[in-house]
Amino acid sequence: MEKICVAVRVRPAVSQDTPNGTYWKVEDNRISLHKSLGTPISGVSYTFDHVFDQDCSNGRVYELLTKDIIRAAVEGFNGTAFAYGQTSSGKTFTMNGSENDPGIIHRAVKDIFCEIQMTTDREFLIRVSYMEIYNEEINDLFSVENQKLQIHESLERGVFVAGLREEIVSSAEQVLKLIQLGEVNRHFGETNMNVRSSRSHTIFRMVIESKGKDTSPSDCSSLDDVIRVSVLNLVDLAGSERIAKTGAGGVRLKEGKHINKSLMVLGNVINKLSDCAKQRGHIPYRDSKLTRILQPALGGNAKTSIICTVAPEEVHVEESKGTLQFASRAK
Ligand code: ADP
Ligand code: MG
Repeated sequence: MEKICVAVRVRPAVSQDTPNGTYWKVEDNRISLHKSLGTPISGVSYTFDHVFDQDCSNGRVYELLTKDIIRAAVEGFNGTAFAYGQTSSGKTFTMNGSENDPGIIHRAVKDIFCEIQMTTDREFLIRVSYMEIYNEEINDLFSVENQKLQIHESLERGVFVAGLREEIVSSAEQVLKLIQLGEVNRHFGETNMNVRSSRSHTIFRMVIESKGKDTSPSDCSSLDDVIRVSVLNLVDLAGSERIAKTGAGGVRLKEGKHINKSLMVLGNVINKLSDCAKQRGHIPYRDSKLTRILQPALGGNAKTSIICTVAPEEVHVEESKGTLQFASRAK
């Protein structure tokens, strides 16, 4: 079992009333809470594989947290990278980035095609899909007609989303265009986009299939090595904030329950996976659509990283502690 890599990223402060930008102090791979700069609040201190402060770029996050997963995916290993945190803490900034500082998805796509070009002894077939889980319903972001898709399981395909559009792609530019289309589709018929995006999980998936060139079965020591298939998921999770804070009934409450449940299940699954193999026991993948869809690329020899994003402002301190607790459980 591969160890799950867990990182925390504190975004720059956006509100003026936070002195020097943050209530959180970052030193190496440790993050601790300070009442004002210089006065640590005892007990609230955590260490992770990496802690990124407000000055850290997406480029650096990618290098330290995702590049290995991408390399391994090209070599045939499954991988998943998540962004977890409350709404406005920087998940989408980390995954999608900005014009000046492209995010993890953009960098991953570019790198994959780079790696493939350098792997001259194999032929590749790349497929991409893009989906959203909203209220425990799976919607296809490449095709607006594809709503409420179902999860199926077969011997041949394993767990899969039936009817999900998969595009065969041959360049990074093509993939990035498709993602843009997905973003447009996501806005389709939506009056309040921020609400929707903070309440849905999005999964960008690449399936990388490769075959050795010029190899006849007889000169292959292992038949497994003839064809390799790996799945890479890049996941922007729904906001982790507690429902009480939004204080809404009806539809909102229902959404909130689904979100909290699927994030809780994700936490349980990851927590079990990070336990040592012997104590692990049953892993509750089936308890949410999110974990079910991700199951093939979580656990086993899959590579997983989680970036937990933190909003530095004082009003967010309680949510930030919750995020760090989630991150601690994943270690
Ligand atoms: P989330 O997806 O978690 O709701 P966003 O990624 O949308 O949060 O971030 C909220 C705001 O903060 C956005 O305007 C975003 O551009 C900005 N932001 C987030 N992280 C950073 C960062 N590391 N550097 C600069 N701006 C950031
Ligand atoms: Mg977002």
